[in-house]
Amino acid sequence: MSRVPFICGNWKLNKTLSEAVALARAVAAGAAEGVDVGVAPVATALHSVAGALGGTPVLLGAQNCYHQDAGAFTGEISPPLLADVGCKFVIVGHSERRQLFGETDEGVNLKVKAVLDAGLLPIVCVGETIDQRKAGDTMKVVSAQVKGGLKGLAPEQIGSLVLAYEPVWAIGTGLTATTDQAQQVHADIRALLRELAGDEAERARIQYGGSVKPSNAAALLDQPDIDGALVGGAALKAEDFVAIIEAAV
Ligand code: PEP
Repeated sequence: MSRVPFICGNWKLNKTLSEAVALARAVAAGAAEGVDVGVAPVATALHSVAGALGGTPVLLGAQNCYHQDAGAFTGEISPPLLADVGCKFVIVGHSERRQLFGETDEGVNLKVKAVLDAGLLPIVCVGETIDQRKAGDTMKVVSAQVKGGLKGLAPEQIGSLVLAYEPVWAIGTGLTATTDQAQQVHADIRALLRELAGDEAERARIQYGGSVKPSNAAALLDQPDIDGALVGGAALKAEDFVAIIEAAV
C-alpha cells in the first residue's frame, strides 16, 4: 500500500509570534504536492499561525494536550480547544515529555483517546534510550510503548493514526539512526501493528525522528516502512525544512 508521506515540524519551545508567523508562511510557500506537511508551534502561537496557514495545505498541530475536555485543570489545553483553534493533529508522548515531565504509557493512552475523540490525528512518539539500545532492548521498549499507547483502540483507529519512531539518543544530538537501523525498527513496529490491527497496519504511517536534516532525509524517506519525518531542529529553518519536504516527494 502506498502511504502519503507526512513531514512534520516540531518547533518545541521556540519562536516569538512574529517569527512563528514568518516561518509558517515560508513553510506554506514550500509545501509540495503528494506530501502532507504539518507544523507544531508553541501553544501561544497557535492562533496566529492558524491565520498564516489559512487557505494553504499545511496542517497545524499541537505539541501536547491534556486528556480531559474541560474543567479545573489549571494550565492545561484540551483536544477540543486545539481543534477550535484550527489544529488537525497533536504530538503525544514525545520523549521530552516522557523524560522531563514524567509521562507514562498510560497517560499517553488517555491522551491518544482524547485526541481521537476530538476528531484530531495523534502522532504517537516512541523510542529507546541509548542504554536500552546497547542492552538489546530496543523492540522490548518500543513494543511496550506502542501497546501501552494504543491500548483499547479499534483497528480502524490504529490504521488512521501516525506513530513517530524517535530513538531518544538521536533527538537533538546530531546522531541519526542509520537507514538500516531505522527501517528495521519501523518494520518491527509495522509487524506489531499487524498483530494489533490486522490489515489496518498497512494504512498507519510511521514517521522517523531524530536529527533529520536535508543531507539525510532522502535516504531515510526512501525506506519502505518510513512514511515521513518528525523534525525538530531542522524545522526551525524554513530552507532546511522545505528541503526535507522536497526529499519526500
Ligand atoms: C524531535 O524533537 O522530535 C526531534 C526529532 O528533534 P531533532 O530533529 O532536533 O532531533
